[in-house]
This record gives sequence, C-alpha cells and structure tokens, in this order.
Amino acid sequence: MRHRIAVVGAGPGGLTLARVLHRHGLSVTVLERDAGPDARPPGGSLDLHEGMGQRALEKAGLLAEFGALSRPEGQAMRILDPDGTVLRDWRPRPDDRANPEIDRGHLRDLLLGSLDVRWGSGVTGVTAEAEGGARVRFADGRQERYDLVVGADGAWSRVRPALSPATPQCIGVTAVETSLDEVDSRHPGLARLIGDGSFAVYGVRRSLVAQRGSGGQVKVYAQFRAPLDRGAEPGPADAEVVRARLLERYEGWAPPVLDLLRHGTAFVHRRLYALPVDHAWPHVPGVTLLGDAAHLMPPLGAGANLAMLEGAELGEALAAAPAGLDEAVRAHEQRMWPRARRWAELTTAGLNRLVGPDPAEAIALFDEVQPE
Ligand SMILES: Cc1cc2nc3c(=O)[nH]c(=O)nc-3n(C[C@H](O)[C@H](O)[C@H](O)COP(=O)(O)OP(=O)(O)OC[C@H]3O[C@@H](n4cnc5c(N)ncnc54)[C@H](O)[C@@H]3O)c2cc1C
Repeated sequence: MRHRIAVVGAGPGGLTLARVLHRHGLSVTVLERDAGPDARPPGGSLDLHEGMGQRALEKAGLLAEFGALSRPEGQAMRILDPDGTVLRDWRPRPDDRANPEIDRGHLRDLLLGSLDVRWGSGVTGVTAEAEGGARVRFADGRQERYDLVVGADGAWSRVRPALSPATPQCIGVTAVETSLDEVDSRHPGLARLIGDGSFAVYGVRRSLVAQRGSGGQVKVYAQFRAPLDRGAEPGPADAEVVRARLLERYEGWAPPVLDLLRHGTAFVHRRLYALPVDHAWPHVPGVTLLGDAAHLMPPLGAGANLAMLEGAELGEALAAAPAGLDEAVRAHEQRMWPRARRWAELTTAGLNRLVGPDPAEAIALFDEVQPE
C-alpha cells in the first residue's frame, strides 16, 4: 500500500528525510514556503560531524559528493584575546575529516538533487485526524490530507502546534551577523588573520567570531548578552547605525579585530531563541517533528547535524516498515528526545561559557573539545 507522506520544510532536516525516502523508493511531497531554492541568501557555513551530519549523508548515498564539496581545512580554529594576542591556533591534520565545513548553499543543492519540491507552499497549520493521518492547511485556504506529516519547518514551526503548545523563548543573547566578500583580494590582512577556518575573540559577555566560506566569503557573528537596542530591531537600511553601535560595544578591542565590523557589508540582527531543553509531546498518530521544529537550541554546531541525522533515521525506519508508519514514528520520537535533550543541555551550557562573564571559560571549553 502506498502511503501519502508530506514533509513541511526544505531545510537540511526535511531534505535529508526526503532524499532517504526517495532512495528507498517511497514517494514524498516536500512543501516549502520559499518561492524557490534561491529565494533567500543561503547563509554561512556548516560543519558536519562524522557521526551525525556525515552519517546522514551516507544514509542518503551522498557522502562521496560531500567529500568533494566540503572543506576539511575549514576545521582550523584561531582564538585571540581582545587585545589581539593569539591564544590558540589549531589546524587539522591533512587527513582529518571529523568536522569538515560546507557552504549551506552547496549542502542544499546536494540534498535537493533531482528531488521534486513544491516551492511557494507555505503551510499555515496541521490538524491530526481522529481516524489517523493529518490535514495540512495552506494560506489560500486549500487543505490536503496525508497519512503522515513531518514538520521540518524550523524554529517557528506551523506544524508544532498540532503536537505541543511550546514556543521558543529568548535566551538573552543577541547575535548580529555581517559578511565580507572576496576577503583574500579585498582585505588580505584580515584574510591572514582569519586563517583557513574560524577565528574567535572572547571578551566579557561578548564574542566576535569570523568563519570562512568558499570563494573568499567570510561571515562575522557578534554575540553579546544584551539587546542591541531596547526599541525596534533595526532593518537593513540602518547598517551604519548598527555598525556604529557595535563598534561602541566592542570599544578597546584590537583594531584588526574591529576591522571585521568596519568592513562588514549588510547586518542581520537577531535575538537567540530556544525551546525548553526537555521539549517532548504525547505521541499523536499522523504528525511528528524533527530538527529545529522539535528542539531549537543555541547555534553551537549541533542543530543541522541533528536535523539531518533524524531525517535520515526516520526515512530508513519508514522505508523498513511501510505497513506500519506509526511504529516508525514512535521509534523516531523515542530516539530523538533524549539525544536532543543531551545536545540542548550541552549547547546551552556552552553558550553560557562562550558568551559569559569569564572569557577564560571560552578557552577552557575549546581545550575540552579540542584537547590536542
Ligand atoms: C548563525 C548560525 C550558525 C549555525 N551553525 C551551525 C553549524 O555549524 N552546525 C550545525 O549543525 N548547526 C548550525 N546552526 C543551526 C542550524 O542552522 C539549524 O539547526 C538547522 O538549520 C535546522 O535545520 P532544520 O531543517 O530543522 O530547519 P531549517 O534549516 O530552519 O529549515 C526549515 C525550512 O522550513 C521552511 N519553512 C518554515 N516555515 C514553513 C512553513 N510554514 N511552510 C513551509 N515551509 C516552511 C523554511 O523556509 C526552511 O526552508 C547554526 C545556526 C545559526 C543561526
């Protein structure tokens, strides 16, 4: 019997699930709000861990292609004091493939492959039906019925309310993101300072992190424990206002470090949110969640990895039990909840150390994760 399965959201989690289902010959409908794959800038770089994101790509049959697209040298990490002193300068061995970096856009294209995504399909809500399955509602009033709806629609999921009343809460850290293009030719001094991978400076309750993507692009993240402004969040037109306020907030830091802010182009300002670390829900046949929709946590290198692993595992389980979708979904939830909780606790504690009162804690955390 052919089941009707819908995945809401074409992010890393939803696309991995769809690819694995596809690989096993199951048909799936991917509903994505964006008008097309290039409707938004794809964002920066992701590191995919060996036992998580890379394992998911292996299950999707895409590990070899990932090897060709990813940047193992991007694992390098340099940490400076706010005064510019180099505290750590870690470089991976040439054969180190533990956490290679990949541009989000490259990962999206790799996962998309020949998948058929229904772009421009923003879901407004989902209702589980008493006799099993669920109904998906769209903005234009249309409704569609599926045997299983998987909400992979990120932090502000429209599927989640069918299962749980939880909403993400602000965690007290503001992040401002900016970018530098063609850094090697336009800002060679900064390019040397950043190195091949990531570059971080930790101060009291604030940090500045720069991360290389491919083609000379660098994303810069300023994170601090206070809202930038108590009023409305500034829009893109206020780039110079945001830059001036950031330079004030990081006053006294070494001039080459502050050049990351001086040369940044557009600024994106967001507060960080998370779901409760123990977020779970009573099982409802016909609807489930994965990725950020299920367990939004601080952005410390786990979210995309978890979303992809969950997508791949759920896809394999559904393919192995086509007669009993519900059994596979229950197993997915039982596997996801404790693992996500562990990562939510780790990343919450990690963020408190990276953007906290004592910058030495940030270095100590790095040494624990990267003891060599
Ligand atoms: C600055 C930053 C850096 C990060 N770095 C890393 C890292 O290095 N490694 C890592 O593992 N994680 C990282 N993360 C976390 C990671 O980005 C997320 O955890 C990951 O993207 C979650 O994947 P997802 O598929 O669950 O959701 P998302 O990536 O949020 O994808 C959700 C998709 O659903 C679509 N959608 C939303 N609402 C609807 C709707 N109503 N109807 C239809 N479609 C909808 C969206 O358009 C989107 O395409 C980082 C996060 C940030 C903010």
